[in-house]
Amino acid sequence: MTDDTHSTTLRTPIVAVLGHVDHGKTSLLDKIRGSAVSEGEAGAITQHIGATDIPLATISTMAGELVQPEDFDLPGLLFIDTPGHHSFSTLRARGGALADIAVLVVDVNDGFQPQTEEAIDILRRTGTPFVVAANKIDTTAGWNPQEGLPIQETYEEQSERARSMLDENLYALIGELSDAGFSADLYWRVQDFQKNIGVVPVSAMTGEGVPDLLTVLMGLSQRFMKEEMAIDVAGPGVGTVLEVKEERGFGATVDAVMYDGVIRTDDQVVIGGQDEPIVTDIRALLQPQPLAEIRTEKQFEKVDSVAAAAGVKIAAPDLADAMAGAPVRVVRDRDIDDVITEVTAELEEIDVDTAEDGVVIKADTLGSLEAMASALKEAEIPIMRAEVGDIAPRDVAIAETANQDEHKAILGFNVDILANASDELEAADVKLFTDDVIYQLIEEYDTFVEERKRAQQETILDKIVRPSRFRLLPDHTFRQNDPAVVGVEVLAGTLQNNRHVVEFENGEPDRRGQLSGIQKQGEDVEEARAGERVSVAIDGPTVGRQIEEGDILWTEIPEKHAKILEQELSEDITADELEALHGYLDKRRSRDPFWGK
Ligand code: GDP
Repeated sequence: MTDDTHSTTLRTPIVAVLGHVDHGKTSLLDKIRGSAVSEGEAGAITQHIGATDIPLATISTMAGELVQPEDFDLPGLLFIDTPGHHSFSTLRARGGALADIAVLVVDVNDGFQPQTEEAIDILRRTGTPFVVAANKIDTTAGWNPQEGLPIQETYEEQSERARSMLDENLYALIGELSDAGFSADLYWRVQDFQKNIGVVPVSAMTGEGVPDLLTVLMGLSQRFMKEEMAIDVAGPGVGTVLEVKEERGFGATVDAVMYDGVIRTDDQVVIGGQDEPIVTDIRALLQPQPLAEIRTEKQFEKVDSVAAAAGVKIAAPDLADAMAGAPVRVVRDRDIDDVITEVTAELEEIDVDTAEDGVVIKADTLGSLEAMASALKEAEIPIMRAEVGDIAPRDVAIAETANQDEHKAILGFNVDILANASDELEAADVKLFTDDVIYQLIEEYDTFVEERKRAQQETILDKIVRPSRFRLLPDHTFRQNDPAVVGVEVLAGTLQNNRHVVEFENGEPDRRGQLSGIQKQGEDVEEARAGERVSVAIDGPTVGRQIEEGDILWTEIPEKHAKILEQELSEDITADELEALHGYLDKRRSRDPFWGK
């Protein structure tokens, strides 16, 4: 939509850092910022709200021969300051990820860990190009550190032994990437970065390999993202809410990363809110005070305008309900309703498939809600309701309406529980799970469901009639009737006391009486197992009339029990009980094929 008054320019690609906890994300960001500062003079980096801008000139000074500035026309790299996949998924833009490119940090000794997998899943889902920083190479035994040098140069300073130890770790990592479905190689061997993932050995401690990492990021962006980086610098600004923050003197403010156009102090903006889009007039645009002026009382400096790509704090009325991850759009010269429609549409793109019955999920941002929903879908856990925000009494009320007991649950990711919701939870039959790692949240829920199932089956098993087939032993009639007392051998299954017993005649079960006692070697017992010989008292029949020595009898199984046994518990009962069950079912079904189905 460029016209004569608007000009296109190439913006800075936005870079996110992801990886498992303690693998060195924060250290790497600090090192990149620190090295940039020590390499260049003032202006080597610009600290934005929530992001750090490293200009091409600084990267080129750091990278030495690796970068020839004339090879690039992108202005540098904008690193998002908060590392981790949580911030990555929060920062959405037009339904995808805000970050144009990502660095996946992996501790070269540790290899893939749960959050590495989680990060990889998110990168795959959002189609974000990434490089792998194989971090902590300085911890290789016998490593001879070379502060800030490119990797090839530091390699030459290492012993044969150190080099081969590092290589071993690097290849193991490349193997893990390949298991995850990515063909990867050391970055200098990669011919086509669109097909292969480049692995850059680095140390966030010594800065070794950091020049290489910056070079690869620059190169990748230049090769594959130049077109996407072309923006209308005078156009209405577009960005994403990073965080909503209370700020003294300003009230609720929004920290945003702008990825298109320009935002000015006299602009009206539409920002995605909890209930509806917020339409407001900017009161101030704020940036951190430059380092030199940090002695002034004020933390922020007011600026007139901010052009993408950049981080900025927006002060305006009515921002308290703004949502992390929601869009920010400048209205300027356009119909306000169109802009509201755009913002609404962008919010609706969050596709969470909800079901009639399922769990309630809550997350702190739209992006994490989406990531959570996608992980739950994969784990085949249905969702009844998905919302951004802390856990409120209303969530408990909704969770309680779930049909299945195992769905009466709330899964909260990175959220708090409001005080009044805790009370409701205690009173309600609703389970709460909270965690800040999605995988763990799902694991906790799955464990709960399994345990619950097991407990339920145990109670069912306690109540259900166990099948048995048994034979009246010859010459073991101790009493004819009232009750008949006879010796029996259990042929299959478990003969329980107090059960009705039947004999089959032409496929029809004929009730012969009810057990009123079992004795094993003179002791009263409640049941007898297959293979055992016991004496039983049977109320009802007379030996020689309704029952005879040598007869085969069965425990009578109510149809409902037969059905549960066959369909749900066949793996929980013993093999001989199952055999007795099948024998019983075969007999019943010879007359009525649908019995117990
Ligand atoms: P994060 O949780 O991924 O942000 O990890 P941190 O940056 O906090 O690093 C975790 C720990 O590993 C800290 O104690 C760091 O000092 C250490 N660390 C990070 N990178 C390196 C590295 O390259 N070499 C060494 N030796 N230690 C590192």
